[in-house]
Amino acid sequence: MVSRDVQAHNSVVRIGDVPVGGNRFAVIAGPCSVESEQQLLSVSEVVAREGAMAIRGGAFKPRTSPYDFQGLGEEGLKLMSLAREMTGLPIVSEVMETSQVDMMVNYVDCLQIGARNMQNYGLLKAVGETDKPVLLKRGLSATIEELLLAAEYIYDAGNPNIILCERGIRTFETATRNTLDLNAVAVIKQKSHLPVLVDPSHGTGVRELVIPLSRAAAAVGADGIIVESHLKPSEALSDGHQALTGEMFAQLMQELKPFVEAA
Ligand code: PEP
Ligand code: MN
Repeated sequence: MVSRDVQAHNSVVRIGDVPVGGNRFAVIAGPCSVESEQQLLSVSEVVAREGAMAIRGGAFKPRTSPYDFQGLGEEGLKLMSLAREMTGLPIVSEVMETSQVDMMVNYVDCLQIGARNMQNYGLLKAVGETDKPVLLKRGLSATIEELLLAAEYIYDAGNPNIILCERGIRTFETATRNTLDLNAVAVIKQKSHLPVLVDPSHGTGVRELVIPLSRAAAAVGADGIIVESHLKPSEALSDGHQALTGEMFAQLMQELKPFVEAA
């Protein structure tokens, strides 16, 4: 059902009232993790002012080490709601477990499925039974075909509002955190009618590479980007090294202007 053979025209999926997949390049920005009211609201204010169209922020965090910050949980979602009130922008947050779905739909405008859960089929079915759009990230070692089949689970459960996200894959290369597979964007555009975002933050793991890879994402035909930002990256509780400062986010938006303003 997510194949171009079934539907030739591009799907447009709305996060709140923000269309993803239309002519306008979408920019979703915010911190990796919601850490505190002050941290979230200050960065949300900056990215909103500079032109972000939705706010991201993790309340449930899939961390490699169990000893790292695991997120604020529901408290973090309450803070995300405050960020929505303050900016007027819709919010996106990751759901990690099926048991969280019913609670999370009361807070968020879009449910994110993280890379580590791309093949958690029970979770895919559960978000497929909601009426919220789903941002489905590619698994760390998933093929494009596996990503599209994961999307099929959500669709088959009754939810056609799916946004795919290329966020880098595991390769032999160690210079960057992951290898951002921009081929995938072009391949998915051939194979599927679903919108595709690129996450150059997790795709590179390096702050200085986020702007050039965002330009590349726009050039290859992605429908937008999702990027991490923090006003004090050195104090971030997760992924500080890949977080854009406020100034860098402003620079990013400046460089993306021709895509963001396309009618
Ligand atoms: C995230 O977006 O916060 C995240 C954990 O990303 P990924 O699932 O792609 O690693
Ligand atoms: Mn992160």
